[in-house]
Amino acid sequence: MFFEHCQVSDFQLETQHGITAIYTSQGKFFTEHVVNASGGWSSELFAGIGLTIPVALQPVYVANFLVSVNDIPESLPIIADFVNQAYFRRWRGSILHMHQPRRRQGKDIASSFSRATMNPDGANVIYDALSFNVHHQQLEDYVGKVTNRFPKMGQPVYAGGYHSFFDITPDLKFILGLDTQVGNLYHCLGAGQALKYAPIFGELIADLIIEQQITYDAIGIEEFGISRFIDKDISHYWHTESLVQNSL
Ligand SMILES: Cc1cc2nc3c(=O)[nH]c(=O)nc-3n(C[C@H](O)[C@H](O)[C@H](O)COP(=O)(O)OP(=O)(O)OC[C@H]3O[C@@H](n4cnc5c(N)ncnc54)[C@H](O)[C@@H]3O)c2cc1C
Repeated sequence: MFFEHCQVSDFQLETQHGITAIYTSQGKFFTEHVVNASGGWSSELFAGIGLTIPVALQPVYVANFLVSVNDIPESLPIIADFVNQAYFRRWRGSILHMHQPRRRQGKDIASSFSRATMNPDGANVIYDALSFNVHHQQLEDYVGKVTNRFPKMGQPVYAGGYHSFFDITPDLKFILGLDTQVGNLYHCLGAGQALKYAPIFGELIADLIIEQQITYDAIGIEEFGISRFIDKDISHYWHTESLVQNSL
């Protein structure tokens, strides 16, 4: 059974059995297993039962530009531009949509996590009216990237921008698999790059629950377990070299 527009507000947690029921806007549901796929809302949602889910929000500026249809063919692929540090894609009509990649510098991750403690609304901040603007300097920067990437393009016309948020973890890697404290809770969290992995994540977690193992031989998800954050100062993660290397 599948419910839409069904907000989870709380959990019934029993020491022996884990989460035995969830409270939602459509009533109470008893359950054998729970999958946390609530992304940037996770830390707020699970704080009530004493779990710390290390997901924070990193602002990402998104802008749309009106350009000539002749400049962006329908076949334009999504471009991950390592030189200009930007993603470009075509939207319906003749809109060129763009945004920056996740920031991978330790100091940027640290600053996102510092804000998380001051953000009682969790990921609901996305829908705040204040998010629906992009300041002038940001826009100038983006126009520069568009013209660098597409030098033959006519003048792009700004057609709206906003800031959205990447759902980041301390080491920018996914959080997947069984929780360490609640025996029937599985995490399925994207870490700011999960759109493209969503189908495989669904199958992985379903396999874990139903088969009690993963049928994809080549994939070990231990690397992504939430246990890596237990008993560690999370700032350790944003001071490691590997985060800085690969920057899109
Ligand atoms: C501007 C932008 C561009 C991006 N581009 C790409 C890209 O090109 N490729 C890519 O791979 N990734 C991209 N990402 C990242 C990608 O969107 C996320 O990593 C991905 O959506 C995370 O998936 P998720 O399932 O973990 O969380 P989400 O997609 O955030 O899903 C969480 C869901 O939980 C729901 N929820 C929250 N609280 C509750 C509650 N209490 N009860 C019930 N439901 C609840 C929310 O409504 C939401 O639907 C982009 C992100 C941004 C912001």
